[in-house]
Amino acid sequence: MDSMIRNVYCVGRNYRLHAAELGNDIPQEPMIFMKPSHAIVPLDKSVIALPKDQGAVHYEGEMVFHINRDYEAGITVDELVDVMALGIDFTLRDVQQVIKEKGHPWTAAKGFKSSAPLTSFIPFPGIEGLVSQDFTVIMNKVEVQRGNASDMIFSVQQIVDYIGLHYGLGKGDIIFTGTPAGVGSVSSGDEFELLWGDNQLGSCVIA
Ligand code: ZN
Repeated sequence: MDSMIRNVYCVGRNYRLHAAELGNDIPQEPMIFMKPSHAIVPLDKSVIALPKDQGAVHYEGEMVFHINRDYEAGITVDELVDVMALGIDFTLRDVQQVIKEKGHPWTAAKGFKSSAPLTSFIPFPGIEGLVSQDFTVIMNKVEVQRGNASDMIFSVQQIVDYIGLHYGLGKGDIIFTGTPAGVGSVSSGDEFELLWGDNQLGSCVIA
């Protein structure tokens, strides 16, 4: 892939147990929000600075898929996606709570700088291969999240169809596909590792 990332789509509440842990209903259709491409920073032993004066920042580990061609009706995920990565959808949880109550857009809670660190990309194993591996988030050497595509409320195919039809999907777009249960607050000095199966794809430390 060429490294230019265009639109950064994200799916909210795509794992039942995570929706439940935040007291949210299961959505009837994919819940899509976006982050600015400026939110992307590499997860390569990087030190990541997060907002310190706006309440709790939560980590949300997610699978991220890179789109390699224009969406058209009937196209399959295996035709659309060339590579994948793992990422963290950092979220200002207290800010998000206020925003949800007021009905305001999510940008302040989800779109701040460095809110979307991303590991290096690996070849997409195909929809069949995807479910053969779990992804895990290790925080300070302890596993805090484990996810598998088979636990998604909306499948990757349903997600790309929904985004492609409603908003458009083309080469260079990426999709954060939602987080499993186990989200929590981060503090200065916390270390994160993101693993695909047994392979560590990236790590970072919170400044
Ligand atoms: Zn998320």
